Amino acid sequence: LLREEDFTAPGRARLTGRRQRHVLEVHRAEVGDELVVGLLGGSVGRGRVTSLEDGLHLEVVLDQPPPPKLPLTLVLALPRPKVLNRTLAAATSLGVASIYLVNAWKVEKSYWKSPRLSEENLLEQRILGLEQARDTVLPALHLRRLLRPFAEEELAGIVQGTTALLAHPGVPGPCPRDAGGPVVLVIGPEGGFIPAEVELLSRSGCRPVNLGERILRVETAVAALTGRLF
Ligand code: SAM
Repeated sequence: LLREEDFTAPGRARLTGRRQRHVLEVHRAEVGDELVVGLLGGSVGRGRVTSLEDGLHLEVVLDQPPPPKLPLTLVLALPRPKVLNRTLAAATSLGVASIYLVNAWKVEKSYWKSPRLSEENLLEQRILGLEQARDTVLPALHLRRLLRPFAEEELAGIVQGTTALLAHPGVPGPCPRDAGGPVVLVIGPEGGFIPAEVELLSRSGCRPVNLGERILRVETAVAALTGRLF
């Protein structure tokens, strides 16, 4: 994924650091090879490797739009830091349009102090997801440290005109198989939502649904539900 500052001239870019290593080590690129490239927030296209001296030099043609986003807003109880990274990258690669990281009773307070919540890390994980999926458009990301005001004031508005689902194991309602329009999907923390939170989120318009008797890890639940709905 290229940024404006990677361009040394129109149609010419130079990569260093992680992206250079990725291209050389994972794709084993050599001079003359073509890669799929995209411009962060912009188009997708091809880059031909022209030199490996002092960085990876590319001749770039960007002529395709990025893949469309899913009309999916993910409301995710803040997972533990290690899981946060994987989940953000996975949700981004799946094409989620917007992500809210919210608090819940079973979210440990220390998670909110993790360096993984730095702007830099939150951006990096989403960029990894974009690169994986050959996408260029970041999902919007919002942090909400208080669940009740978020649920009562903001979520009630966000769910308007959508199918709003609260994934919660053990409830009778099965998760629908087809979204058929925009969806808001609420996923709980590793320890699950407590009954008062299920009630609060239901009052805000989210319908509790289960995904079967297997209890999935947070990032697996995000992928399974998204795959089922879209
Ligand atoms: N012990 C927790 C519970 O019973 O709620 C398990 C939480 S699970 C590791 C993390 C989150 O993934 C859940 O809060 C829920 O949002 C989602 N999830 C995982 N498995 C699910 C299932 N079978 N049905 C619905 N949601 C599920």
